[in-house]
Amino acid sequence: MQVQVHDKFFRPFITEQQIQTRIAALGTQLAQDYSQKNPLFVAILNGAFMFAADLFRYCDFPSEISFIKYKSYQNTKSSGEVNKLIGFSQSVKGRDVIIVEDIIDSGLTMAEVLQDIQQLQPNSVEVVTLLFKPDAFQGDFETKYIGFEIPNQFVIGYGLDYNEQGRNLRDICVLVP
Ligand code: 5GP
Ligand code: MG
Repeated sequence: MQVQVHDKFFRPFITEQQIQTRIAALGTQLAQDYSQKNPLFVAILNGAFMFAADLFRYCDFPSEISFIKYKSYQNTKSSGEVNKLIGFSQSVKGRDVIIVEDIIDSGLTMAEVLQDIQQLQPNSVEVVTLLFKPDAFQGDFETKYIGFEIPNQFVIGYGLDYNEQGRNLRDICVLVP
């Protein structure tokens, strides 16, 4: 079944159930690596809000969460420029930071976030992203925790938008060409 958002059509691609199963596994993996470290999750708004909320609930160990807001997408293409709308408010110095992102595409946004966060002297930084597009990636950083690798196609749902619509879809849906 297809859904229309603005002028485009999308079809289910990763189901709600598949998403939840994968996030539970990521939570288990993070527990192994961080349960004694009281990590600071830093989620990137807007897209990652739903993933961050679910992931955080699967992380059953002492931890904190904070939010920053960076924006690079317009329509269905990366604008090539990253706007910082809300910066870091919580102290990052000496913390074990886990950056939470919905999707890494070119990697431009995450590269900026990593550069900014390094200046705040964390003890360690790792990245967890729900989705990763290996064919679009141009960065030179490692993403330790990846939910799903997907082809270089535009997706919405589960927090991800097409011009602000579609974030409330329960499945991740892909653009029908
Ligand atoms: P990057 O800077 O890695 O090119 O893009 C990162 C940001 O662009 C993501 O945080 C996300 O907000 C947005 N983005 C990248 N690919 C997609 C996509 O397929 N669908 C949607 N809705 N947003 C995307
Ligand atoms: Mg994002």
